[in-house]
Amino acid sequence: MTPDLTKQVLTKTAETVLARRYYLKDRTGEVVETWETLCKRVSNAVAEVDKESKQFEALRESYFRMMYHLDFLPNSPCLMNAGTDIGQLSACFVLPIEDSMDGIFTAIRNGALVHKTGGGTGYSFSRLRSRNASVRSTQGVASGPLSFAAVFDAATETIKQGGKRRGANMGVLRIDHPDIMDFISAKENQDKFNNFNFSVAITDDFMKAVEEGTEYALIEPSTGEVSETLDAKAVFEKIIDLAWHNGEPGVLFIDAANRDNMTPQLGDFEATNPCGEQWLLPYESCNLGSLNLSNFVKNGKVDYKRMGQVVRVATSFLDNVIDCNRFPIPEIEEMTLKTRKIGMGIMGLHDLLIQLGLPYGSEEGRAQAAEIMSYVREKAEERSVELAVEKGAFPAYDAKLNKYPARRNAALTSIQPTGTVSMIADCASGCEPYFSIVMIKNVMDGDRLILVNKHFEQVARREGFYSEKLMAKVADSGTVIGHDEIPVHWQEVFRTAQDVSPEDHIQMQGILQKNGVDSSISKTINLPNSATREEVELSYIMGYKLGCKGLTVYRDGSRDQQVLNTKESA
Ligand code: UDP
Repeated sequence: MTPDLTKQVLTKTAETVLARRYYLKDRTGEVVETWETLCKRVSNAVAEVDKESKQFEALRESYFRMMYHLDFLPNSPCLMNAGTDIGQLSACFVLPIEDSMDGIFTAIRNGALVHKTGGGTGYSFSRLRSRNASVRSTQGVASGPLSFAAVFDAATETIKQGGKRRGANMGVLRIDHPDIMDFISAKENQDKFNNFNFSVAITDDFMKAVEEGTEYALIEPSTGEVSETLDAKAVFEKIIDLAWHNGEPGVLFIDAANRDNMTPQLGDFEATNPCGEQWLLPYESCNLGSLNLSNFVKNGKVDYKRMGQVVRVATSFLDNVIDCNRFPIPEIEEMTLKTRKIGMGIMGLHDLLIQLGLPYGSEEGRAQAAEIMSYVREKAEERSVELAVEKGAFPAYDAKLNKYPARRNAALTSIQPTGTVSMIADCASGCEPYFSIVMIKNVMDGDRLILVNKHFEQVARREGFYSEKLMAKVADSGTVIGHDEIPVHWQEVFRTAQDVSPEDHIQMQGILQKNGVDSSISKTINLPNSATREEVELSYIMGYKLGCKGLTVYRDGSRDQQVLNTKESA
């Protein structure tokens, strides 16, 4: 492989994250990799699939370059495990839970094997009979989905994904399951189910009942019989009350997801991966990767030509990952190879908008985001169709069932949180606005270290409004809004996650979903601490009407442990 002429310099944060969790270490725990050798390890392993091809060297080189220059990064398990003995490269899995002891504990075992390799698991508990339903073999009563979810939680706690990645689970229950009320309030106490995100799978029928103020039926899964009816509006309000309280449960719009199921002959969607961006059929897995949009602005314009080239290369890369992946269990291998789903996402959307001078929460910002996402999908599909000609369409492709041309992958795009890979790439995560622009770090001897967003510093110096005093003021107030020294235009451009209105957050999610996202989007709708329950309700209804496939709201300060804080202490 020809060495690169320009040496990639990573930020200190990126190097720290890489050294802690990504670079391979020897037996004594010494790091034995650099960014360059990591990228070589990964690109060599992924390109190996095409070793007989005339394009082999060129492919390997282009995989290396796009990672090394942070144009595109695959999900963490791929960066960690490619070319190693573990060889499991996917971030997300959905595992079915059958309504039997064998079924439940098989799912726990399968989940443990997935977690061990750094993957996250989604489960639907909807097939389990409700608490107190009868159990024929023992003539006793069932303990119900929630008590079993506690066993899944405990198993995850014990495994903790080999120390590199925290065990992550999504737990889903349908709105028409008899135990739904217990499920909705299961995470009210913040000490419970810490290894789970819980989401209620909401149906169109339920939303209609909410709108019309009618009752809806709960169905006992083991018999198919109606167990009782509930007032839809009251249940909806309970979900909203708890989401207002601490952000859980989230909601998944399961009918919207199933309308886009490319392979209904293989089954229905029941659950997503832990962060909600990828709907998968039982036993499917999916490998993800994200395009770093902050690298595609040239002379104040989007460099579509280069972006298109990188998306095409990244599509081949993700498709190859399926073939060199070491799957944790045979059922997952079989299902994944039938549909060959990939999740091409984006990160650094806010960086790109800032570079173009467009506010995240504006019509122009949204139109730009939509244009880019459609383009990403178009190029990914173009390449996937070519790959179908070269290597064959995904085996479950059925021309009668599909509105799309024959292609290699049943799903192409989803927008991931990019929690860690965006730290490596030094950009805003996924499709989110920056969480803070100026941060204070309290260092040991009482000194305050002021960390300024790189774009903000650049603009402030260029436009002549940079001063240490102003930066400290911005850090203390937690926002750029309302400081007279900052021109109003730049105040708009540098609005952070809490400065962007909930409506603008949802509009961004909705427009991206409609313009180029096959699966779903991991996004938080941030609300101020003062937001009312009615505002949360309006957010849910708006998200549903815009065609979102799931929604997570978070009211500032509503959880004991907030993952990120503007005024972070060291
Ligand atoms: N995930 C996980 N454990 C984690 C973080 C993420 O299992 O600690 C899975 C989960 O399915 C999530 C997906 O990885 O939806 C993508 O998350 P993210 O984009 O944050 O991962 P990254 O590649 O940046 O680490």
